[in-house]
Amino acid sequence: MTDSTHDDASLITALRQALGDAHVLAGADAAGYLTDQHGRLTGKALAVARPADTAQVAQVVHLCRTHGTPIVPQGGNTGLMGGATPDGTGRAVLLSLGRLNRIRAIDTDNDTLTVEAGAVLAQVQQAARDAQRLFPLSLGSEGSCTIGGNLSTNAGGTQVLRYGNARELVLGLEVVTAEGDIWNGLRGLRKDNTGYALRDLYVGSEGTLGIITAATLRLHPLPRAQHTALLAFGCIRDAVAFLSQARAGFGASLTAFELISDTALGLIAQHVPEQPLPLALKAPWFALVELSDSEGEEHARQRFEAVVGQAFEDGLVTDAAIAESLQQSQALWRLRDQALGEAQRRDGGNIKHDISVPISRIPDFVAATAALLQARFPGVRPVAFGHLGDGNLHYNVSHAPDGTPAQLFAQEDAIHEVVHDSVHAHGGSISAEHGVGQTKRDLLPRYKSPIELALMRRLKQAFDPLGLLNPGKVLGHAAESLTAEQGQTP
Ligand SMILES: Cc1cc2nc3c(=O)[nH]c(=O)nc-3n(C[C@H](O)[C@H](O)[C@H](O)COP(=O)(O)OP(=O)(O)OC[C@H]3O[C@@H](n4cnc5c(N)ncnc54)[C@H](O)[C@@H]3O)c2cc1C
Repeated sequence: MTDSTHDDASLITALRQALGDAHVLAGADAAGYLTDQHGRLTGKALAVARPADTAQVAQVVHLCRTHGTPIVPQGGNTGLMGGATPDGTGRAVLLSLGRLNRIRAIDTDNDTLTVEAGAVLAQVQQAARDAQRLFPLSLGSEGSCTIGGNLSTNAGGTQVLRYGNARELVLGLEVVTAEGDIWNGLRGLRKDNTGYALRDLYVGSEGTLGIITAATLRLHPLPRAQHTALLAFGCIRDAVAFLSQARAGFGASLTAFELISDTALGLIAQHVPEQPLPLALKAPWFALVELSDSEGEEHARQRFEAVVGQAFEDGLVTDAAIAESLQQSQALWRLRDQALGEAQRRDGGNIKHDISVPISRIPDFVAATAALLQARFPGVRPVAFGHLGDGNLHYNVSHAPDGTPAQLFAQEDAIHEVVHDSVHAHGGSISAEHGVGQTKRDLLPRYKSPIELALMRRLKQAFDPLGLLNPGKVLGHAAESLTAEQGQTP
């Protein structure tokens, strides 16, 4: 037996003593944790550790640190950038937060809810509703993603326009540091200017700076009425102009503005016939718009009709399907949240981009990128949809009608480069809400300045000097990143 296998065996024994045999998994029992959401990345781990509480998380971190063993935190494993998947060396311990799933406190006077990191988002939404409050974070994966994962990726979703992304929904954190210490920062404060905003550094750090074990979340009043409609636009500029009018007319009541291209809706019509479209596909762009009103049904309807009616008169909106019931509203949301994903899958999959550009530049970005793609990859179909109100598009690229998915994926890197270079040229970001993980890690040096990357690396060094927390995610190992950075500008 070599020293390292001896060391690995003693770590596993110590983990078993700390957590109990049933909560340290290896072999086939661990397999379910080692492949990413898309099924494209599979890693290896020394073991999967499933602590029950914060003290046990701290114990696991202590033990791993003593053995020099890397740690890969994992929540619901719904992340799309491979951040929760270990590398292929088998050296890391995968730390699953799933058993830390208790609601610790609800304070309705302070409008806060304190919850452990492994609680599933839908469970947190329900706990807030049970207290007559709204926790507005809303994602297609809400049935399985966790609050810890949401905060670690600074998740977005469909309500960001009104309530902000995960960063804006959290007031305090409890974190196990790389040293295995427990930082209790669970403050339910809306104002706290006592130095560096550590909370904000942990949010969005994808498990590379510390392990989030609990959070104090910000709650909002439950809306009394909601109005949802699918609207059609003659061009994308009209959709952007209407967004501006809707913001002015609805104010803070505008809670969603989801743009969908005719190509994207066309895929639903073609591949998901069980989900009928409520409008004819006679316009190039559509938007799912939602108004949430605090005064009641009639008030919501009148406001909605006034703003949308004016847009019809101005010629901005060319057609509309307005939900008249909760069921109809849910059917419209199903188009966006489920049918769209299913249609892309049944079409053979596509090359995905989660990007943002300033809202005012979206029309130019869409036109320029489509032209660049056609010039280099004739026939490919951009399938664009997303959170227009946040300047965030899921700009996916599907195979040419006379081509195959395999032919498309053979050109994946080149297609990514065309789209991301165009995003950069339009002042945008190559990851709007999904993070960096391992999938986009090596792209950062092309689009971020050396100064920004050097500052990020110094932060990593300060928070995790031994480099044991989710190594190789967000930032490469220092030496690799330096080489990758040289001479790369689009
Ligand atoms: C159908 C579908 C729809 C989606 N829609 C959206 C969307 O609209 N908006 C959006 O932003 N994302 C979306 N996602 C992506 C994904 O759901 C989010 O990134 C989510 O926040 C990840 O949560 P998770 O618990 O699954 O995290 P995981 O996938 O387990 O982990 C994600 C990252 O966070 C780290 N991490 C997890 N928990 C902790 C912790 N407690 N402490 C420290 N680090 C941790 C991991 O190491 C990893 O780097 C979608 C995914 C799917 C499958």
